Amino acid sequence: MKDYPGSERILRLDQLEVSNKRVFVRVDFNVPLTDDGKVSDDTRIRASLPTIQALIAKGARVICASHLGRPKGKRDEKYTLEPVAARLGELLGTDVIFADNCIGDGIHRQSRDLRPGQVLVLENLRFHEAEEKNEHDFAFKLSQLCDAYVNDAFGTCHRAHASTAGLPSLVKARAAGLLLEKEIAALGTLIHNPPRPLVAILGGAKVSDKAKVIEALLVKSSKVLVGGAMAYTFLRALQCKTGTSRVETEMVGLAGRILERAKTADCKIILPMDHMTGLTFDHPGPAQATENAHIPDGRMGLDIGPRTRALFAKELEGAAAIFWNGPMGVFEKPPFDEGTTFLAKAIAANPAKVKICGGGDSVAAINQAGLESGFTHISTGGGASLEMIEGRTMPGIESLKQDIG
Ligand code: AMP
Repeated sequence: MKDYPGSERILRLDQLEVSNKRVFVRVDFNVPLTDDGKVSDDTRIRASLPTIQALIAKGARVICASHLGRPKGKRDEKYTLEPVAARLGELLGTDVIFADNCIGDGIHRQSRDLRPGQVLVLENLRFHEAEEKNEHDFAFKLSQLCDAYVNDAFGTCHRAHASTAGLPSLVKARAAGLLLEKEIAALGTLIHNPPRPLVAILGGAKVSDKAKVIEALLVKSSKVLVGGAMAYTFLRALQCKTGTSRVETEMVGLAGRILERAKTADCKIILPMDHMTGLTFDHPGPAQATENAHIPDGRMGLDIGPRTRALFAKELEGAAAIFWNGPMGVFEKPPFDEGTTFLAKAIAANPAKVKICGGGDSVAAINQAGLESGFTHISTGGGASLEMIEGRTMPGIESLKQDIG
């Protein structure tokens, strides 16, 4: 974690005294569920297994807490963590106790009754609106459940919620979990001390979502490659024809200014030179490649074209570090997934020392293609990793520092 400012003031998991202690672990168990309430993808549960297993091995009494979905501060059975607790038990190969709330006398008793090595999963934190409002009283009640606190939920560290900000400042014995430590180390290095040259690739839907990330990356990277719908707003700023493609007209001015700023930052912004197009978003019909960067009237850009794919792979050559976030096209709709898959393969095959995927939709593309081992780090937090790169304060990380609270 050494490249993240102040990380020397954050304890690592193995520096925390946990034997026979009740340890509150803020995990990110916000997993997708099927209509009949089963866990359909347990990646996030698996991601926190090393931390939970390390605590069990040291004889901690483990209390896992998470949010799931958006229950808007009320109990909603659709978002119960009960199936998640069951899946965690299967993965750990041990019984996991489920508590039907996260605060209250009964839960307090359950926490006290926990034996070393046992695991308790609390009900959804967001069944209480006090969680997202970071109310002191709620954080205090959570603090009474535990003797030590561990944050392993990188995906929510950009939010100042009770379980990520208020609670840790009330618990002196606190540390980063193994997953969080990995995220801080990988993204901290990317932001503060990347091997150079650094090449960034950004895609996805909107310039408005990623303008700040692009600006932050301009000053660190030698090149920023832009794909996805975002690219059309930039192309419009360069007077290219964009057909019926998704352009954020109110962002064209900003896109033009970013292109100008890149010149003074000595960073090349590289835009697509051709596209795969369809008729409409819902009914694209057969995909057609354009001849150049212009998109004909009545056609919609839905992916990067073959010449752009080759160009982007070439531009990655010689990179020491690569950061990628966001699909190159509408990867949910084949064949418009091909540009994204091509890029994922090009990064996986590239010999760069550091290859980081910043989470979100790009992770799905990497998983689909089975390319996980071609990356040095795949972040579990899309929004969180982008906010960290923007240089914003991460309340969930700050509140772990030993001199806070
Ligand atoms: P984001 O969450 O910003 O990374 O955006 C991901 C979304 O951008 C995905 O749902 C993609 O389908 C969408 N997207 C990528 N390229 C295009 C495109 N050319 N036209 C419309 N949507 C796109």
